[in-house]
Amino acid sequence: MEQTLQGTIIFGDDFEPIDGILTIEDGIIKDIEERKITADTIIAPCFVNAHTHIGDSVIKDPPYLPLEELVRPPDGLKHRILAQTSYQDLVSSMRATMQDMIKTGTCAFADFREGGLEGVKALRDALGSENKLKAHIFGRPSDKDMSYLDSCDGTGLSSTNDLDAGLIEVIVRKTKEKKKKFALHAGEKDPSDIPAALELGADFLIHLTHAGKKDIMALSDANMPVVVCLRSNLLTGSGLPPVRKMLEEGILVAAGTDNVMLNSVNMFSEMEFLAKTNIYDDRQVFMLCTLNGAKVLGIEKESGSIKKGKKARLMFLTKKSNNMQGIRNTLGSIVRRARPDDIIGLI
Ligand SMILES: [Zn+2]
Repeated sequence: MEQTLQGTIIFGDDFEPIDGILTIEDGIIKDIEERKITADTIIAPCFVNAHTHIGDSVIKDPPYLPLEELVRPPDGLKHRILAQTSYQDLVSSMRATMQDMIKTGTCAFADFREGGLEGVKALRDALGSENKLKAHIFGRPSDKDMSYLDSCDGTGLSSTNDLDAGLIEVIVRKTKEKKKKFALHAGEKDPSDIPAALELGADFLIHLTHAGKKDIMALSDANMPVVVCLRSNLLTGSGLPPVRKMLEEGILVAAGTDNVMLNSVNMFSEMEFLAKTNIYDDRQVFMLCTLNGAKVLGIEKESGSIKKGKKARLMFLTKKSNNMQGIRNTLGSIVRRARPDDIIGLI
């Protein structure tokens, strides 16, 4: 089935706004034609949220506690509440979060899922047959049981400071034997776990809030992608990651909203924070939240930007809302101003 759409298209890997016609056939972008039109709509690629923990959707907005008291396994507040949560409540809260992702313009996400095989199964149950959202699940062992690996995309661990080094080595080896991805948190609270994380040869690292000059050089030398979670870092008092410096050193940086406990999964909010607190470059910010996330997850051939041959994972934003009326800088307004209620359609 062929479908034609017209508007200001955020085109290609450079996210250049052009007015024109977009043709889609069987869910694939078939043609993009630049043409003089009056466009009331912006056609933009959907977001890739490169780091979440949607399993803590049952404990939204806890007291302002130090990071460790909140999330450190096994006794952090989060883990104590999760231990008391029924499977059914866990699944329904995750389902609501995923529907919220879709509604706010996200088409793919990468989740760090606790609870071993059962935890992965809960996310899959929550996702059901939903096809507007692609879930990349990074499980972790439960009592050393690694059977989760067969039903997800890889392993996602907390800091090397939280786990026994020998155990981590086994987990990494088994993950790689299964040809799955391995990712972990590093440099969130302080820089002490960054060298160990780099040595493990992860596929990507999360946070790097406290990465210093040497760490950034080491990340760059290792071609290590980084996922930053600004709102999370601000809330936990970790500070701001040196995103501009990482980008200057050629590091692939993507963005995530981290724990649903701490933040909504609204990527518009994440973009606004990235732009106004750290990067001051609309194109870079938009790239972090779309194409770079797709690259980190290895889905850039099908998602992350509007190009011929890619899947049509699109959002339509109105230029006519009270918020968007009269905008002059399309990309800047998407990044710094647009909100989920400016979305008038999704494919
Ligand atoms: Zn995290």
